[in-house]
Amino acid sequence: MNESNELDALEGKVFWQGDEGYEDARGAAVWRANKPNRYPKVIVVAESAAEVAIAVRHAAKHGLKVGVRSGGHSWTSPHLRDGAMLIDVSRLNGIDVDTGTRHVWVGPGAKGEKVNDALKPHGLIVPTGHHSTVAVGGFLMCGGFGWNSRLWGNGCAQIAGVEVVTAQGEIIYADEHTNRDFWWAVRGSGAGYFGVVTRFRLTAHPLPAVMKSSVYVYPADVLEALLTWAREIANDVPPFVELVITSTAHDPDGNWAPVRLTLSALAITDTDEEADKALAMFERCPVVDRATKRKTFQPTNLTERYVSGTAADPVGYRYACDNLYTNAPASELIPRMRELFTSLPTPRSHVFWFNWGPVKPLGDLVLSVQGDIYLGAYSIWSDPSEDAAMDAWPVEQMRKLEDLSAGGQMNDENMLARPDKYLSDEVSDKLERLRAQHDPNGVFLSFLTAETR
Ligand SMILES: Cc1cc2nc3c(=O)[nH]c(=O)nc-3n(C[C@H](O)[C@H](O)[C@H](O)COP(=O)(O)OP(=O)(O)OC[C@H]3O[C@@H](n4cnc5c(N)ncnc54)[C@H](O)[C@@H]3O)c2cc1C
Repeated sequence: MNESNELDALEGKVFWQGDEGYEDARGAAVWRANKPNRYPKVIVVAESAAEVAIAVRHAAKHGLKVGVRSGGHSWTSPHLRDGAMLIDVSRLNGIDVDTGTRHVWVGPGAKGEKVNDALKPHGLIVPTGHHSTVAVGGFLMCGGFGWNSRLWGNGCAQIAGVEVVTAQGEIIYADEHTNRDFWWAVRGSGAGYFGVVTRFRLTAHPLPAVMKSSVYVYPADVLEALLTWAREIANDVPPFVELVITSTAHDPDGNWAPVRLTLSALAITDTDEEADKALAMFERCPVVDRATKRKTFQPTNLTERYVSGTAADPVGYRYACDNLYTNAPASELIPRMRELFTSLPTPRSHVFWFNWGPVKPLGDLVLSVQGDIYLGAYSIWSDPSEDAAMDAWPVEQMRKLEDLSAGGQMNDENMLARPDKYLSDEVSDKLERLRAQHDPNGVFLSFLTAETR
């Protein structure tokens, strides 16, 4: 049997294992430098929904499982599996703004920053990842913390409709009224989706007139006082403010420096007065006099924000990550934070605390787990001989906090190393029911865990 028959129409875009170009295509499917030792049988780099449909029909006919990548930023790369077909949709990156309806059509491979560049002249914005290289595909499908998401909702909540290639290789459109299951499921199922998204229709927001930021750098000895205060003001941080505290330990050249805690607050709103009033609360932090650096009430813009987000996770390094949400009160949480924040395994590694709450109901989304405080741990390194230790650090840190966990966030998931609750039981059951109905032969791969690896 010549398995490549149906794929002949995609000449130059199909890479079987062993072909010239295969390893480049496999490497490109994973953003970080540590590429997993998982080898798809064939990689199809599609340039249209019709090409995706050809690839899916081929896979269905020949019993190949299908994984899909958009930007390739997922930390565990669930799309990369031994013996499967990988459909790379990174070239489906068109952006088409419909100003009349405030909708924007975006290909899954479009980068968030490019989408907002296209929306800006129309006075519109959508929440995207904070790093300029993150594509909208995985970002939206996994949930997504984006610009002003505490106010406007997660990325997946912005999805008004999708164009999808089904397990039968048909191209369909799905929204609230049409093919509803495919629309419901895309809003937070991530690698658990049973289709290939070839276009999203997103609802954009009017671009707020003002962006202002305040940044304070604190020494590690104020950790307990700073985090206790940050936990206790959770209900007072206005929804248009992102409050993040990171711990880092590198100098400008990337060499070790004493651990420092950086509190960054970003207000995205309509007037200077509102922004200044909101940012003023960070001046009332009980240890504010201990800040070693301050840059407060600074006007900023989206371009600067993407630059700053991109600098936090430099390109070309090896990465591992794990996360959890917690609702634990300060009295239980803060005594457990020192090791997490100060045991960074390399200078560039970091920990991320995000005041996500007070949580709002998520409604009828697949995204169904959240908590007041989000904690993410990221190891960043260069030397492959350190892989085992670096892969282990974020997982060990989160494992130690598991008794305080309200569940995990899919965008930073590490189900492979540490299963946590990513979906409510009810949503998980519904998703699996719909998968069995719409993909009865199991064409599409699902979540990557130790069991499904
Ligand atoms: C440097 C960096 C910065 C980040 N910053 C943020 C941030 O600010 N906020 C945040 O919320 N997250 C952030 N993330 C996490 C990021 O949102 C997730 O990793 C997300 O999955 C990335 O999307 P992607 O398209 O690049 O990933 P991919 O790896 O391509 O996609 C992830 C998974 O989704 C599925 N999938 C992707 N596209 C499709 C499709 N078209 N059809 C069907 N299934 C598909 C596949 O199973 C795939 O394995 C960041 C990640 C990195 C590496």
